[in-house]
Amino acid sequence: MRTALIAGNWKMNGSLALVERFAQAFVETRLPAGVEVALMVPSPYLDAARGAFGGTPVATGAQTLHPESNGAFTGEVSGAMLAELGARYVLVGHSERRSLFHEDDAAVLARVKAALVADLTPVLCVGESLEEREADRTEAVVLGQVTAVLDALEPAERERLVIAYEPVWAIGTGKTATPEQAQAVHAVIRSRLREYDATLAEGMRLLYGGSMKAANAAELLVQPDIDGGLVGGASLKVDDFLAICQSA
Ligand code: PEP
Repeated sequence: MRTALIAGNWKMNGSLALVERFAQAFVETRLPAGVEVALMVPSPYLDAARGAFGGTPVATGAQTLHPESNGAFTGEVSGAMLAELGARYVLVGHSERRSLFHEDDAAVLARVKAALVADLTPVLCVGESLEEREADRTEAVVLGQVTAVLDALEPAERERLVIAYEPVWAIGTGKTATPEQAQAVHAVIRSRLREYDATLAEGMRLLYGGSMKAANAAELLVQPDIDGGLVGGASLKVDDFLAICQSA
């Protein structure tokens, strides 16, 4: 049985005050049993979030890391630094990193490996653009992104990943994939995982991301191969995020 994971991605949003507001809500609200909840906050807020969420079951995560553990990389942050601030998860390959920061599959792989070395759980984000979907290339693009990473890992490393399927056309656009569209891609990913190993396929959590909100979360999360959500915009609003957690 896979434990559902609802992970919020604040992107470059939020404040220390918002960390506090969420912490208060996590203390006052009973989160559903058997669901893991995490917030990927901007790195400067990790330490505060660790302190504020202590005593609640909510984990923290980061949104990116540099492949090297230290060195002359002004402005960058390493996996070891994130782990020292209590991060458990780190997003890798988010479509905004791929497009705005030109992170290709090799850069994504290097970051996944760095996350594993730092004992963080990488959440590998994959997904097709609208043009790629319209050209019937969804499967090829998504499986290309998945295999570019998994082919280069040892079996024991693969088991430590979470994968988030995030169609680029659904991120921040208000357009959600239908449950059927999302389930179809998740099933394709899971069957590709079976080619590595049946146990890996049964155990790996596949999250859906792309305009998930309280109104559509339940119908997505009930799909057999959707094991949780990666939530952007709706993770900045306490009530919306808690409602999504309750739907899992
Ligand atoms: C995201 O940034 O990972 C995301 C899914 O954003 P949104 O929910 O706002 O589409």
